Amino acid sequence: MSPAISILDVAREILPELPKLLGEDAAAVRQELTNLLARAHSGKAVDHEIRVVLGKNPATDRWKRDRLRENDADGGDEKSYQPLPGLRSTPRAVKYACPVSGCNTPPWFPIDAGDEIPSCEIHGVPFEAVSDD
Ligand SMILES: [Zn+2]
Repeated sequence: MSPAISILDVAREILPELPKLLGEDAAAVRQELTNLLARAHSGKAVDHEIRVVLGKNPATDRWKRDRLRENDADGGDEKSYQPLPGLRSTPRAVKYACPVSGCNTPPWFPIDAGDEIPSCEIHGVPFEAVSDD
């Protein structure tokens, strides 16, 4: 799966955004990227260097990731999410387990909001929500 947008495209697109992202540091990063793009233009492989330059600063790193991810999403088959009527909208806990302490029955992870909560096979009691934090 090769993304339609290259890191070179990202470098080109981020140039006008640099002052907003980096403030005073924008000029230096702009210089680095411009040099790398010039080298890319003459056939050098600079993808890695561009990633390093963009990865040095959290603001440019995030911008790069968002840009690449956005591109991936464009290619995907995006389905609009429609909640089923009648289902409770309260989010369920991520994990359920037997409430009997020391029980070895493995915890259960619901996949859909409508999944029925199982009972412990050993103790015959319904699983209870477990919070991980
Ligand atoms: Zn149990």
